[in-house]
Amino acid sequence: VPLPFACRGEVVRGFGRGSRQLGVPTANFSDQVVESFPSDIPTGVYYGWASVGNGDVHKMVLSIGWNPFYKNIKKSVETHIIHNFKEDFYGEILSVVIIGYIRSEKNFNSLEALISAIKEDIEVAKRQLVFAQHQGLLFLTLPSQCI
Ligand code: ADP
Ligand code: MG
Repeated sequence: VPLPFACRGEVVRGFGRGSRQLGVPTANFSDQVVESFPSDIPTGVYYGWASVGNGDVHKMVLSIGWNPFYKNIKKSVETHIIHNFKEDFYGEILSVVIIGYIRSEKNFNSLEALISAIKEDIEVAKRQLVFAQHQGLLFLTLPSQCI
């Protein structure tokens, strides 16, 4: 799958796997948006840029994984935006540009291991995204792809 890959769509409710309680809320795309992703895109954790509605562009980490809610036959795409939002933004349009791949999907045998992996992912994303010109990619690539 060629990167960057750009996508935008509505933020829907997930089924609360407690990511917010872990300090890493993940904005879930609707099934319709997930189905518009290339079917051969590898599962795992990616980094890139995101913005909510007409808001500012922020760094993000995004995971593509198998959705246990659908007995692991459907993928889910969840974005953690590296920014403190004052309020939830369910129903708003999330725009993302996936720039690069961090790691494959993993199973963790403890909550601590999961949290430290996510924190490491966030550090990787921050390091990779220092180049400010990447921000322009959001606007260059969005109109051509997805919905
Ligand atoms: P859900 O299971 O409904 O996805 P989460 O615990 O994963 O619940 O929380 C995700 C929601 O939190 C998002 O849909 C969004 O409205 C809100 N949110 C607040 N801050 C952020 C953030 N920095 N990144 C992603 N989502 C956020
Ligand atoms: Mg979520």
